[in-house]
Amino acid sequence: MRRLLAAAFAVAALPASAGILIHDVTLISPERRAPLAHADVLIEGGRIAKVGTHLAAGGEVQRVDGSGRFLIPGLIDSHVHVGHSAALGDDAIDAHPGLWEAYRAQVPRAYLAFGFTTVVDLDLKPKDQAWFDATPLHPRFFSCGRGVHVAGGYGAFKPPKLSSPNFPNLVYEPFEAKSWPSGLDPRDFTPKNAVARAAAQHAICVKAFVEPGFGQFDWPYMHAPTLRELHDAAKAEGLPLMVHANGVQSWRIAFDARAEILAHGLWVWPGGDGALSADARAVVDEAARRQVRVQPTLQVIEGERAIFDPAVLDDPRMAMALPTSVVAYLRTPEAEKSRLAMAADYRGSAPDFDARFRAARERSKASFKRMLERHVALIFGSDTPAGDGFGNPPGLNGRFEIQDWADDGAPLALILGAATLDNAKALGLARELGSIEAGKRADLLLLAKNPLTDVSAYDSILTVFLDGAPLPRESLAPAE
Ligand SMILES: [Zn+2]
Repeated sequence: MRRLLAAAFAVAALPASAGILIHDVTLISPERRAPLAHADVLIEGGRIAKVGTHLAAGGEVQRVDGSGRFLIPGLIDSHVHVGHSAALGDDAIDAHPGLWEAYRAQVPRAYLAFGFTTVVDLDLKPKDQAWFDATPLHPRFFSCGRGVHVAGGYGAFKPPKLSSPNFPNLVYEPFEAKSWPSGLDPRDFTPKNAVARAAAQHAICVKAFVEPGFGQFDWPYMHAPTLRELHDAAKAEGLPLMVHANGVQSWRIAFDARAEILAHGLWVWPGGDGALSADARAVVDEAARRQVRVQPTLQVIEGERAIFDPAVLDDPRMAMALPTSVVAYLRTPEAEKSRLAMAADYRGSAPDFDARFRAARERSKASFKRMLERHVALIFGSDTPAGDGFGNPPGLNGRFEIQDWADDGAPLALILGAATLDNAKALGLARELGSIEAGKRADLLLLAKNPLTDVSAYDSILTVFLDGAPLPRESLAPAE
């Protein structure tokens, strides 16, 4: 197994503590068949030292009363993009640099406030990596490095100059040779080199994009033989391959390439309505058979609603996700004007846009239901922020994704497992993270409500323990 870099586990400098005993709590963790009532958890040196009942602890230890409360592992969101704006468009960022600064200051804290003690970025620019790592308090941060793209395709429509730090991680795709930039030598852009570039960013996974055009456009995309080579090169480095795929065609390509993880649910296939096609059913069933892990990412479509309806700004939980100044800006006529322009733009992209949009959400629901019935191995990832607008706020969007899973029929125990131990296993992090067991990192959430009986328990976080340090939830609110 690949050795994890100690540096990748570093979180911000947190106050050292002699030890903490969380006393008389109901412990809920996915490795257990049932909750452990009246549990004691001893934390030492940032790790879980002991788990049991009636643990004796020395006088130096700080005691936390857990009676009537619930303790779960810190949540893992295995699909985020920390550097992308989830609130302000490019024009607003240029016009209001102070708002952008305030927004960025809250991004890492917002993930923590909603219980996400670990996040995994699936397409990370080195400059965003340096910024997030340097924030004073942030969740554990892993990535797939830069995602691997096909020139002229999704995410690399117009590659910048090779000398730019924003140059995408390209792979040469022989089936799409016509879109290859003439100034680049294909021999420098082999699947093996693409994996090496991701690995140079300390990646724990490799992310590739198979996006023929969302069923609406006709873009160059990665074909199965190239993706298979990429998979084999990633495997040689001990890295799982995560594939951006949301349609029947791209799911099949990912299967052919033996990809370990599909980084989206399923909502693109020929036809216009919301019902599952026979092909869609077949690929979901095949995902179950092959035990491919799937991130349903229901918020990708759900979050786009905010482009057409700003009601999400009224959600009181926004106060923990975005600074007050940013929410106030989003209500100004200036911001409203750009939201309406974006809505018009989206609607202009296809004459039947509204019907397509509705059908996509119905499809993601229907395919998710089938995944649950067939016991597809689901892992939790929110794709924050998935697209434009402010419908995928940092941290809160993960909470929305949890709600979508519950509303669309996922049992609450499955949601907890998918967001903790199953995520850790999928990404090679389970030796350190994902459950409440002696020896693991003390990333924990103390809740007022039971997450196995009530999804709103995820709104009842009292304390976030990060590397053993207790962070009262109020302390994670935006500064302004
Ligand atoms: Zn994404």
